[in-house]
Amino acid sequence: MFKEYLSLMNVTFKNIKCKLNTKQKNLFKDFCKFLQKNYGLKDDLIISFVGERIGKMTTGSQHVKKGIKILINNRMNRDILRTMAHEWIHVYQRNVLGRERGPDIGGKNENEANALAGSLLKKFESKNPNMDGIIYEEVKPIQNKINLLQEQILLIDGEKLRNEFINEMKKIGIEKLPYSYSSLRNFVDPKTMNIHYNKHYKGYVKKLNDALSDKKYGDLELEEIILSVSKYDDVVRNNAGGAFNHALFWKMLSPKKQVPKKEILEKINKDFGNIKKMKDEFNEESKKRFGSGWCWLIITKNKKLKIISTPNQDNPLMNIIKGGGYPVLGLDLWEHAYYLKYQNKRDEYIKNFWNHVNWDFVNELFLSRIDN
Ligand code: MN
Repeated sequence: MFKEYLSLMNVTFKNIKCKLNTKQKNLFKDFCKFLQKNYGLKDDLIISFVGERIGKMTTGSQHVKKGIKILINNRMNRDILRTMAHEWIHVYQRNVLGRERGPDIGGKNENEANALAGSLLKKFESKNPNMDGIIYEEVKPIQNKINLLQEQILLIDGEKLRNEFINEMKKIGIEKLPYSYSSLRNFVDPKTMNIHYNKHYKGYVKKLNDALSDKKYGDLELEEIILSVSKYDDVVRNNAGGAFNHALFWKMLSPKKQVPKKEILEKINKDFGNIKKMKDEFNEESKKRFGSGWCWLIITKNKKLKIISTPNQDNPLMNIIKGGGYPVLGLDLWEHAYYLKYQNKRDEYIKNFWNHVNWDFVNELFLSRIDN
């Protein structure tokens, strides 16, 4: 048994069924001082290192009325320190914060103790670079070295995997192409479709995700970025636009010819006179687009249908577009969308577009905006 007096409380180490050398004892003392500095306890504490079991438990630790019990059980690794910090936090929660004892798994106290123990140990380790040598000094140095390495690998891998998982969850996903590359061949040839989808579109999504993770923008919805695009730089603007426009575009196309559905058709007739007039205006606007861009049929704030064209990968929903609105139909006017089949004959590409409009989807988009 050895005692360590800290500023306001004293810790008694009860050394049961296991032997600690002086360096190890000092390490535990230092760790207690460190814990007391960070999470100061008011009352005295007894820390018992137990050899084999606590009640039915053969691994782990426990905080009891006057202190902490830690099972050593042939372990002499950082787990012991982490466990000590974990139980210390529990004592702090109960005696300093006056919290009720919570459930052992999944409760607030437990999650907090786990998180704090991890970060406290890391902090302590960074100030005590020789810690490994001390805890692994005794017996079976090779086995201990192996244990240490395994533990380090787990820590590194665990953290790496966790970060990778979190980053993965935050990513903007790829919209699936809802038909084969060849199914629009009368409008766009399979090779163009393949390159357009796999290289251009996926490229926008990748560059967008790279830009978002570089700047640590956090977990965002693509539409959220589009709606507040003025907050971001041009890399995000261009690639978010590219990702959003194409995700819509794939769904706006249909392998089979469709007729405009009831609700959208009525609205087109109301706002343009008839469908031919709408198409004529759309075609004219498309032809006028100089360089790369898109032509759109949109629904404005005042619930009116309107045709506009946007440059580059801008979208009518972006807060930087004047007189914009919610797109219900769009046509990609970039050369990458048609050049292999049409070369300089963009007009023909625009004309053929009307044979492959997915009016079901257009109607769905229209209704979702009208309802709001
Ligand atoms: Mn495109």
